[in-house]
Amino acid sequence: MSMKAEIVEIGRRLYSKGLVAGYEGNISVRNGNSILITPSGVCKGFLKEADIIEINSIGEKIAGNGVPSSETALHLKLYRERSDVQAIVHAHPPTATGFACAGLGLDQSLTAETVLMLGAVPLVPYGTPSTEELPEALNGFTGYDALLLANHGAISVGKTLEKAYFLMEQVEQYAKISFVANTLGTPKPLPCDEVDKLMALREKFGIQTGDPTVCSRNGQVTLYRFSRNELVNLIQEILNEVGG
Ligand SMILES: [Zn+2]
Repeated sequence: MSMKAEIVEIGRRLYSKGLVAGYEGNISVRNGNSILITPSGVCKGFLKEADIIEINSIGEKIAGNGVPSSETALHLKLYRERSDVQAIVHAHPPTATGFACAGLGLDQSLTAETVLMLGAVPLVPYGTPSTEELPEALNGFTGYDALLLANHGAISVGKTLEKAYFLMEQVEQYAKISFVANTLGTPKPLPCDEVDKLMALREKFGIQTGDPTVCSRNGQVTLYRFSRNELVNLIQEILNEVGG
């Protein structure tokens, strides 16, 4: 399947699964030195290969008829910072976006599958869509493969477009499970020793990004883990406070 045909197919899946509505969402794939990206103002469920636009690494149009996605800067930021990323999916999955609107990330180690595949899905602070605010809000978060965008939606990246898309499906699934677990009472995250075993498996599978943030040791204590970037930011904040 050609890259353009694959983008068309993933757009169809995003729309049919209700992960986007109307003209929402955007999809891109790295294509050597250029990037193939979806146009704005077109429903992603009914894309045609001819709709896909080719841009260069600074967002200038190389080929195609429409206007490149309004979130092009968001995609370019991730391609710049993550040489391993080949494809990006941005959508507004309703349950996950509900968490993002409630000011909540998906960072409890609730199921083995999500710890393995996603680690934590942190909440990125709000930035006005289609402006430079949104890529700037990603500072410190680009080490994760899936992120919630406050009061907006979610974004996922992958070594292939299908992998990035499956992460988006899993983010929505994870949000639904988290919602049910929290609605039923106090969720019981996996204990830390079990999370440690899953972390060892992640290493074996070559999954290097993301990090589970919450687990409970001896069923009592909640331990917060930080990604390297979060830790660096936290230390920087403390140093600033001490210095100021
Ligand atoms: Zn959006």
